[in-house]
Amino acid sequence: MEQHPGSAEALLRDKGLRVTAQRRMVLQYLLDHEGGHFTADQIRDELLQMLPELAKGTMYKTLQDLAAVNIVELLPTPQGYALYGLRLRPHQHFYCTACHHWFDVLPKNIEALRFDAPGFVIEGVDVTLRGLCPQCAHKEASPAEVASGIHKD
Ligand SMILES: [Zn+2]
Ligand SMILES: [Zn+2]
Repeated sequence: MEQHPGSAEALLRDKGLRVTAQRRMVLQYLLDHEGGHFTADQIRDELLQMLPELAKGTMYKTLQDLAAVNIVELLPTPQGYALYGLRLRPHQHFYCTACHHWFDVLPKNIEALRFDAPGFVIEGVDVTLRGLCPQCAHKEASPAEVASGIHKD
């Protein structure tokens, strides 16, 4: 991908992480699914065919290592489980309360949220927008549309 100069391997080296099969494959999976957010188990299930020895504990440790150098983000969800996604580009999140998907979004004027808080050092701003994604919003609207369609016929 042109937006990510270099492979998973190059990214790991760039961040000073030793390249292991686990780190390379987990990162590659996230690179291949940019914009997606997955549980550790979901990623593990996908990689088990290629890495049958990938233990649960190793999976969490691998994700933690990638999160520690800011390649990967950890999203705590209202349901209590954590989701992992790529963190190579700055973005915020939209959480759909109907289908529970998390979307990467780029709301404007995020920087305006930084406020003057004497004594506090602001390291970042994390914003989660909540509501219905376009697909779910459309579904909610459709019964009315269907009804009016029937009327017109
Ligand atoms: Zn939705
Ligand atoms: Zn994200």
